[in-house]
Amino acid sequence: MSNTDSKRRIVVLGAGESGFGAAVLAKDRGFDVFLSDSGTIAPKYRERLEAEGISFEEGSHTMPLILSADEIVKSPGIPLDAPVILAVRAKNIPVISEIEFAGRYTDSKMVCITGSNGKTTTTMLIHHILRHAGIDAALAGNVGVSLAYQVARDPHDVYVVELSSFQLDNMYDFKANIAVILNITPDHLDRYDHKMENYVRAKFRILQNMQDSDSFIFWKDDPVIAAQLRQVCTRARMLPFSEFREEGSAAYIDAENRLIFETPGTCMKMPRADLALNGLHNVFNSMAAGLSACLCDVSKDDIREALSDFCGVEHRLEFTADIDGVRWINDSKATNVNSCYYALEAMTTPTVLILGGKDKGNDYSEILPLVKEKVKAIVAMGKDNAKILDFFGPHVAKIADTHTLTDAIEACRAFASNGDTVLLSPCCASFDLFKSYEDRGCQFKAEVLKLKE
Ligand code: ADP
Repeated sequence: MSNTDSKRRIVVLGAGESGFGAAVLAKDRGFDVFLSDSGTIAPKYRERLEAEGISFEEGSHTMPLILSADEIVKSPGIPLDAPVILAVRAKNIPVISEIEFAGRYTDSKMVCITGSNGKTTTTMLIHHILRHAGIDAALAGNVGVSLAYQVARDPHDVYVVELSSFQLDNMYDFKANIAVILNITPDHLDRYDHKMENYVRAKFRILQNMQDSDSFIFWKDDPVIAAQLRQVCTRARMLPFSEFREEGSAAYIDAENRLIFETPGTCMKMPRADLALNGLHNVFNSMAAGLSACLCDVSKDDIREALSDFCGVEHRLEFTADIDGVRWINDSKATNVNSCYYALEAMTTPTVLILGGKDKGNDYSEILPLVKEKVKAIVAMGKDNAKILDFFGPHVAKIADTHTLTDAIEACRAFASNGDTVLLSPCCASFDLFKSYEDRGCQFKAEVLKLKE
């Protein structure tokens, strides 16, 4: 019997939040579903798969069970050149992302956010504004419950979807109603043949299928976005934001240090000092969020209130403690150089900077001017700190080589004095000493809080 005669078969690869959600949606929609994960499935998902009666395997991929699929839903964590994907491609079986799959079964409004840095913050900020205004909005993508699960079991009017380039890689027919590209700087290039143009193209997939009634919000001052925009065309209405007023800017800072929002239906002003989040990067995130909210017909008062009472996101410039006049800040999510750049940009006191971890091919020259201007000492914290010590050694007065969090904090204590800030903004992934950036941030906060005791 051919597949067209039988029930169509969906195979889901990867049993994380997105894979589990896709499997549930596929089951609810009457597909023959099988889920395969080459690693160990987290107990919370294994139990739920069992309770749903969805067939699955873990620890290996049984190829005949996978290659009998009509379509594959791939977890964003699986690289496009993984052997299982190459085998699937060789048989011409379509591979899609969970977001693509979920998008087929909903007409809800999609506000989609991508960029190299600031995605989670901006996604949460937009969600916060929409909820504040009483709109039935839910988080999806890299944050919260998967889009597929919500579409299947807990539908909402609006989804605010954080999209990584890995999710965008396997999206084809999905359409965003509002798309945001915050910025594009080199990241994850190991997954893109070390070619920036491949990574940029993946990010711009967020625009595909958009129509005249849709809107594209982007950072006008970003040279990478500007260059790519000269090569692609979109029917979406363009709403660029920029630091200062430029021709066509839909949001900018005016001479009186106010954020100005100008969309076809709205003209709104808000003092920069009223924003809940600090730093120029968060001005941009707030502009993108405010513009998105204007397009969702949120009132000016609701936007202003929500932009000023947002509580921030854990591990992103998160104030941890003030100990003996020294402010300790957890920016563990700064896993690339550009995010550290903006963290330093936001510093207003002499800073002791903790750098280090798993280097993704970093070019530290981007932060050197800010380091020279604001950093009084660097504490390198990683298994191998040679690159950081060599690069920054000649430029800072004090530098320490540490290999544990405890030693790093000890070194910071020795370097920092009343009025200084200690900033964990490591420019690197965490996997050499920690399980994840969350683990690094949580351990950092716990150790710092112990200093209070
Ligand atoms: P993402 O989800 O894209 O990784 P996050 O909101 O989690 O972004 O922030 C990641 C890091 O980047 C944090 O260290 C944060 O302080 C910094 N950051 C946030 N917004 C921006 C921005 N617009 N530009 C540069 N860095 C940013």
